[in-house]
Amino acid sequence: MITAMSMRYDGIALAPGIAIGKVLPLHSSSRSAVPEKVGVSDVQSEIDRFLESLKETEVQIASLRDELKTRLDAKEAGIFDAHLMLCSDQSLINGVRETISSESCCAEYAVYEVSEKFYNVMSNIPDAYLRERAGDIRDVASRIIANITDREMRSLGMDDKRIIISHTLVPSETATLDKKKILGIVVETGGETSHTAILARSLGLPAVAGVPGELIDSLRISDRVIVDGFKGRVIINPDSHIEESYRLKAQAADKLRNELASENTLFPDTTDGFRVQIAANIESHTQMPELRASGARGVGLFRTEFLFLNQVVPPDEDSQFEIYKQLLLAADDEPVTIRVMDIGGDKLPRTGTAAVEDNPFLGLRGIRFCLYGRRDLFEVQLRALLRAGVFGNLKVLLPMVSSVAEVLETREIIRQLQEQLASEQKEFVSNLSLGVMIETPVAALQAEHLAGLVDFFSIGTNDLVQYTMAIDRGNEQVAYLYRPANPSVLKLIRNVVEVAEAHRIHAGVCGQMAADPIHALLLLGLGVHELSMAPSAVPVVRRAVRSVSMYELEQLAARALGSASAAEAVSGVHQLLSERAPELIREK
Ligand code: PEP
Ligand code: MG
Repeated sequence: MITAMSMRYDGIALAPGIAIGKVLPLHSSSRSAVPEKVGVSDVQSEIDRFLESLKETEVQIASLRDELKTRLDAKEAGIFDAHLMLCSDQSLINGVRETISSESCCAEYAVYEVSEKFYNVMSNIPDAYLRERAGDIRDVASRIIANITDREMRSLGMDDKRIIISHTLVPSETATLDKKKILGIVVETGGETSHTAILARSLGLPAVAGVPGELIDSLRISDRVIVDGFKGRVIINPDSHIEESYRLKAQAADKLRNELASENTLFPDTTDGFRVQIAANIESHTQMPELRASGARGVGLFRTEFLFLNQVVPPDEDSQFEIYKQLLLAADDEPVTIRVMDIGGDKLPRTGTAAVEDNPFLGLRGIRFCLYGRRDLFEVQLRALLRAGVFGNLKVLLPMVSSVAEVLETREIIRQLQEQLASEQKEFVSNLSLGVMIETPVAALQAEHLAGLVDFFSIGTNDLVQYTMAIDRGNEQVAYLYRPANPSVLKLIRNVVEVAEAHRIHAGVCGQMAADPIHALLLLGLGVHELSMAPSAVPVVRRAVRSVSMYELEQLAARALGSASAAEAVSGVHQLLSERAPELIREK
């Protein structure tokens, strides 16, 4: 058993920055989709945790039902009456109590175990109606489990900022974190391009993954931790010298950040006068001021799935319309690329909307989910986008495209929705700019067939690397293999750029590769037209761009394409940047 004495652990850097403070261990099992069995010494306090969360769940469901009654028909709101009945079901409640007592396990695990037993019984009942109700049990159980840990979060005082320690944080949970209460994040599972990492970066929270579960379990609320999100290092209960040295490092990082921020009005021009287009990836329209302050031009990627992940009821057409409209108005005619929901993979809603799959990253994800999973939701989203598009410069992006047919089918749906909107005399955009994400090898290799059907390409390197190299982007155990500059990936990107040029369409990169200064320069050398990244990465990339010439980059990229490894491919650009702007290079 690892104990939480003073010690250092080198994991994976998920989001840059340094955080120093006390920890908030989110109960070791509660945040995973399938809670682990964790032993507890105080059975009564676990039972209390369960009962308090059950009460809270009842209140939430009742208010949801009342709210829905005003928006939907009574039949749909009635689903929540069934959920409420489950909350007061004595066999369920007693089952959880008994499991906690007899197995001395944590409340989350007991809820999970008992609800799964109920689920298995009900899903085998011949009566179709009762069988369908089995899913309700899982919905209610996941709410109770989520509430058990959320209570711990909420019980923190507002000034008591902490470092979250957890085995895993799935995107639906990361999206709800209250930044005001959190200094940083340490998790066991996750890779540099996992969606937890993307959200941590967008919240500006230093984060590290790959820390062993045993170590996570050993941490207590009184332990102090340093999170070095630059190097992927975690130091537990540091002595005062180490803490002081990290304080100085944090100050130096702040100084560089402020210095770079003062360059935000400068154009991202190379030394030979090539102006690079830098846009920002954002997860919420509230990030628009941050985008503007960074000097980015326009939104290169707005991931709409985060609007769905935490909802029991998906957002309706009008509420989506309002969000997209606000975004377009705030962008002031700069392009705003809104990606339709990329549900699936690790981005699964807490309840309801998506089915459980064995290989979710290879399953009904992105456009597949939109077309063949929940077309009803897809149509609602497209209607909202078509209507909002009249308020600005909208570009709509389709994720996970792997065939020409998917684009043709989407275009047909858009045509029908436009007809519908016209017959309803609603305003909408008639010439919608439509693009595809190039994030599967099949799309990259078929780019020439896709190019004629769309207005732009957006290369999603997070997934393109994952699918080309057969490396799960969220699995810390294979993170050492995750190398975006692998020459095979570079060749695919080069092919896409060449096709885009031949068809006179735009090809940008919106994956994490664009946010790393060395990789960003390599991409520009390959001919990529636009780089889109989290607003916090813009100043670093801009300074990198301003310190080199496009001529140099093209030479180095041509050499990189013929390299045998990622390390060899980046060596030229690495050397160049370490001569011109060494302060931007962070050795991992
Ligand atoms: C990508 O795959 O590079 C991308 C930008 O999409 P996401 O990270 O949301 O999968
Ligand atoms: Mg992707």
